[in-house]
Amino acid sequence: MRDVAQNFYHKEVGNGRQTSFWFDKWSDKGRLFDLLGDRGMIDTGVRKDASLEEAVRCVRRRRKHRNVALNEIEAELNMVKEKLKHNVEDVIKWKGKAGYRESFSTSETWVMTREAYSPCSWAKGIWFSHATPKFSFITWLAMLNRLATMDRISKWSLGADTTCVLCKNAVETRDHLFFQCDYSSQRWKQLTHGILRNAHSNSWSAIITLLSDNSRGVKSTFCVRYSFQAAIYALWRERNRIKHGEKPTAIARLQKLVDKVIRNKLSLLQMQRRRGMVDGLQFWFGTRV
Ligand SMILES: [Zn+2]
Repeated sequence: MRDVAQNFYHKEVGNGRQTSFWFDKWSDKGRLFDLLGDRGMIDTGVRKDASLEEAVRCVRRRRKHRNVALNEIEAELNMVKEKLKHNVEDVIKWKGKAGYRESFSTSETWVMTREAYSPCSWAKGIWFSHATPKFSFITWLAMLNRLATMDRISKWSLGADTTCVLCKNAVETRDHLFFQCDYSSQRWKQLTHGILRNAHSNSWSAIITLLSDNSRGVKSTFCVRYSFQAAIYALWRERNRIKHGEKPTAIARLQKLVDKVIRNKLSLLQMQRRRGMVDGLQFWFGTRV
């Protein structure tokens, strides 16, 4: 990433000790390596990883090069030699929103390296604080309809059995698995009916709308979003287990596992005294039906 990084910092040369002779821009000529390439090291006798300080010391004798650029660089070095401040360290300054400064900001650099698009409407429902990355990732794939559900697999693998392995009663699609399926709709209902009440739905598009709405308050929003991801993760995993010939997990056990994952998360947030989540666990227990 050196080439990209070059656009985001500049060096204030002091003694030249932290400045790379070949790869930093210390003169108006830009990066010398771009100018002369590997050949330049042979012609000048300056090592590839030499600092500017070292180069100034070693390029002493003035020789007449046939290459004009080499002569110019030697002239430049002679000038820099006078300018190096022997008791001042080199300083790297990073480009930020408000110009160059000594501290480096990952987020500002990230914003500068990418093209910004307006966030998609459902992003907040998938990528939110305190989410569990592996859950978010699988949910994100589901959101893009990129999980290898049987309706998709059958397009490239003709003759594949498309029946849902959880209910054995319908074609397995994303919307069926989450949560039209008799098996998974029960799990989903058990998790969120107590929170959503009348708003509860097992239709994918209705749930996505619900997830983006945070007017129900911090705890409720978090619990629904987190339950959604934990359920998708657990059901997808269970579906894969069965597909690979393992015995189905007992419903009560699966339910307990998901509930435990959610309770552990809520208890952690409570311990960390996260804003709006200090009585998250009580809220969860209060919504169990
Ligand atoms: Zn099913």
